Formats: sequence, C-alpha cells, structure tokens
Amino acid sequence: MEKLDIKSMTQSEIADLMKEMGQPAFRAGQIFKWLHTGVESFDEMSNLSKDLRARLNDKCYIASVTIVRRLESQIDGTVKYLYRLYDGETIESVLMKYNHGYTVCISTQVGCRMGCKFCASGIGGLVRHLTASEMLAQLTAAQKDNGIRVSNVVMMGMGEPLDNFDNSARFLKLVSDENGMNIGLRHISLSTSGVVSGIYKLAELNLPITLSISLHAPTDEIRSKTMPVNNKWNIDMLLRACRDYQKVTTRRISFEYAMINGVNDSTECALTLAKKLRGIMCHVNLIPANPVVETAFKKSDNNIIERFKATLEKCGITATVRRTLGADINASCGQLRRSETRKEDV
Ligand code: SAH
Ligand code: SF4
Repeated sequence: MEKLDIKSMTQSEIADLMKEMGQPAFRAGQIFKWLHTGVESFDEMSNLSKDLRARLNDKCYIASVTIVRRLESQIDGTVKYLYRLYDGETIESVLMKYNHGYTVCISTQVGCRMGCKFCASGIGGLVRHLTASEMLAQLTAAQKDNGIRVSNVVMMGMGEPLDNFDNSARFLKLVSDENGMNIGLRHISLSTSGVVSGIYKLAELNLPITLSISLHAPTDEIRSKTMPVNNKWNIDMLLRACRDYQKVTTRRISFEYAMINGVNDSTECALTLAKKLRGIMCHVNLIPANPVVETAFKKSDNNIIERFKATLEKCGITATVRRTLGADINASCGQLRRSETRKEDV
C-alpha cells in the first residue's frame, strides 16, 4: 500500500484520517502543528502515544528534503541550497535576508516544461511536479539549518507553479494556516511565465498573494523568440488575464522583465511596454539577466537598464532594478542543479 503524504493534508483531512483510525478529533490539531514545525519523524511527536506514532508511521510518510550542497554568499549572506528529494531528484532553494526578515525562493517542480530560452531550469524539460509537502519542506529545512523564521516566500525557483496548479494552491493554503507556518498570503509571491488558464483559476481562489508575471518583452515578436508559452497565450491574452485577475483581487501585479543585451532593452521597447501596461495597477521589476552557461544571452549594460527604467517612469509606470543577491554563488535558480548535472555527465 502506498503511504499517505500527511504533510500535504489539511487539518480537516487529518481529522478525517483520525476518525478512520478511531482517534479523537483533537489529535488532528496536534499532528498538524508538529508537521509544520518541520519534524521529520512521528517519533518526535511527543504528545502522541507510542502506539499511535507507530500506526501513523505504517500509514503515512513525512516529506522532507536533504541538503546536498549549501553555498553561502560572502557578499550578502544569501544561502543557496541544492536539496535531494526521496527519489533522488534534486531541486534548488534560496534564502535571502532583507531588512524586514527572511525570504525563501522555492521550487515548485523538478525541471520545467515551459522551455524559456534564457532559463537554466527548463533545459532538461519537466521531470515531475513537487507535492505541497515538498514545497513546505524547503521552508522548514532552511529554518532549521539557520535557526531562523521565514517571513516571506516567493514561488520563483525551478518550475512553473501554475503548471502544477493543485499542489501550488494546496501549498498556499497550508503555509498560511495559523496552526501551521502561519505565513500571511500577503507575504507570498507567485511567479508565472504566463499560463493564462492558471491565472483564471487563481483568480477564482481570490487570494491576497502577489501575482508576478514574467513578461520579459513588450511585443509578441520578441517574446515568442525566448518564451514558447507566448505561442499559446500571446501578450494580449496574458494582459487581458491580468486585468481580469486584478478586477477580482484588486491586488497590484508585478511584471518581471529580464534585461537582455540587444534583445529587449531599447527605449522603443520601454515605450511599447508602458503602453501595453496602461490601466493595470502594476510595478515592473527590471532584472539584469543572469548569464547561463548553456545560453548565449548577456545582460544589458547598467546605463541601458537605468535608461529603460527612466523611460517607464516618465510614462507613469513604477519600476525598480532588482538588486542582485548572491552574485558570487550563482544564485539564480536552475543553475546549481545544472552545474551538478554537468559534473555527473562528465
Ligand atoms: N516559472 C516561473 C517561476 C520560476 S522562474 C516563471 O517563469 O515566472 C523565476 C524568474 O526567473 C522568472 O521571472 C524567470 O523568467 C526568471 N529567469 C529565468 N532565467 C533567468 C535568467 N537567466 N536571468 C534572469 N532571470 C531569469
Ligand atoms: Fe520554466 Fe520559469 Fe524557467 Fe521559463 S523561466 S523555463 S517557466 S522556470
């Protein structure tokens, strides 16, 4: 019999399980709390009887991740992890320290099927989805390893969260549960390459998270060259979904824009972008593109990035240039796993 992934279960699902096992309902609250402190075995649940712990262990497993590599930036203290999952697959997470607390960037899939040309995560395609519990385990592992509490989460690591919709939505529900990690949804961002069907499904949930759209280009011609998803849902369809999403949630939307030298960084691009975003309450994050060994893209020069930002602002669109964290440890997602894979290939 396949064991149950108990860390992906809500408290009320655990309550149903308790009923099935002939246990009082209050056990569900005890178990749920333990799971989200990051325990890795039922034996750590000291307020449960030995017998119940053994029965739980027969029926269920507690998802966890193991640290394979840990790289700490000497510049800003950013920590990048390569974690191993139960089946030997590996994923990346990054822990960043800001003035307001600790943010973890989590992966939502092993690999990714979206195939963006500038991204290291998509090179080998999609291997599998992560469970909600494996997303949570990335947070508890970082907390334990550093003796800290995580206050913010960005779903911006490897994988496309809206291509793994149910598990991502379940993660959001669990991580914000007040008996669990209790991280407010307002402290969570979900980044998508533009899976329009998923944006509409997310709008139905009407969560106060921040939706972040990886736009990266102002025209279909440019976007389709680097992001195959644009052939399915073009920029007009994507921005219509953003407008509809905003009508429901009233939340400001973030647009990510990786500045790639000579590809999308002209003043004309900035003007077209500003025009397209008109009427959307939004903020643009300009990201100096990270060089990936396997791709030929280079980042734009700093003065070009500043000029782009100034053009957007003149058009009334707020923009920030993202600070590069962990520049000395290759902190952008997908790259560490790739470099490990390359080593294994040799
Ligand atoms: N799949 C989701 C979330 C993970 S990718 C998405 O695409 O939005 C997280 C962010 O990193 C995205 O904005 C993505 O476009 C960006 N990214 C990927 N490779 C990059 C690179 N080489 N340089 C800069 N940003 C990159
Ligand atoms: Fe996937 Fe995002 Fe990378 Fe595109 S940028 S391949 S969607 S992880």
